[in-house]
Amino acid sequence: MEDARDKKELNQILKDTLKNNQDHYKKGELANYIPALTKVDPKAVGISMVDTKGKFYATGEYKKRFTIQSVSKPLTLMLAIMDNGIDSVFDKVGVEPTGDPFNSIIKLTGFAKPYNPMINAGAIAVTSMIKGNDKEDKFSRIIGFFRKLAKNDGLELNQEVYFSEKETGDRNRSLAYYMRDQEIITGNIEEIVDLYFKQCSIEVNCTDIANMAAVLANQGVDPVTKERIIPRKIARIVRTLMTTCGMYDKSGNFAIEVGLAAKSGVGGGIMAEVPERFGIGVYGPALDDKGNSIVGMKVLKELSQKLNLSIF
Ligand code: GLU
Repeated sequence: MEDARDKKELNQILKDTLKNNQDHYKKGELANYIPALTKVDPKAVGISMVDTKGKFYATGEYKKRFTIQSVSKPLTLMLAIMDNGIDSVFDKVGVEPTGDPFNSIIKLTGFAKPYNPMINAGAIAVTSMIKGNDKEDKFSRIIGFFRKLAKNDGLELNQEVYFSEKETGDRNRSLAYYMRDQEIITGNIEEIVDLYFKQCSIEVNCTDIANMAAVLANQGVDPVTKERIIPRKIARIVRTLMTTCGMYDKSGNFAIEVGLAAKSGVGGGIMAEVPERFGIGVYGPALDDKGNSIVGMKVLKELSQKLNLSIF
């Protein structure tokens, strides 16, 4: 379908859409609970799109780097499933939306496992299942997987954000210690939480997350190299969880307004995929009250309408 639309036309649509929505940043806030995340320009916005034939479209500050934060959650989930199998992972983590904030502790008490892998508790449990000889090896497997999906060997850790999370991440530590008490996870909690902070502090730009999403849109196969990176079934499970739980406690609203599998992070990124068509990466660090990029949500809504992207 996109072949009929020339590159110039699609780039113009992206440009107009960004321009129409860029001022919405004024209604949002930077993620100040991680102090290092407030040191960014709230006005910066960008978008990259990659189609499943490998064609690339972009506008705005699409090269600007930001920390991946929770956009990492579906990615480590895929790695954990490839490491352990579907049943072992979902024995410890559920697949149901919570309707609660991403870092909520409420639904952890009294339940056998975290509700889903897109909230912090579930994501920490997933990270604890990543295989590796030691903590360094585990992190290098995670970043190696992210680099492969992004087709960018230059992805690195943002040390400042990592230390800032480490210093202020007591909620995440509490979730992890509680889960060990409940025998949901085992092992050294400080090491597990540290690995989770590191995975969240990897720097990406819009194109990196658009490339990652394009692999998902292409059912687990890299659109350019044609290499199967993720088994089709695992890609399907993760895309489904992104659709039902990926946009924090605004996932239902996002499904109506945009209608795509997507995952947002408090660094301001949103990764979205359009089955068999596009991987999309949007950036805008000012967040709405749920933690989603406010400009990113608006841009995706307008784009979904203009290009008829909703899966529903
Ligand atoms: N590192 C962040 C945290 O654990 C990720 C939150 C997010 O992006 O949703 O609080």
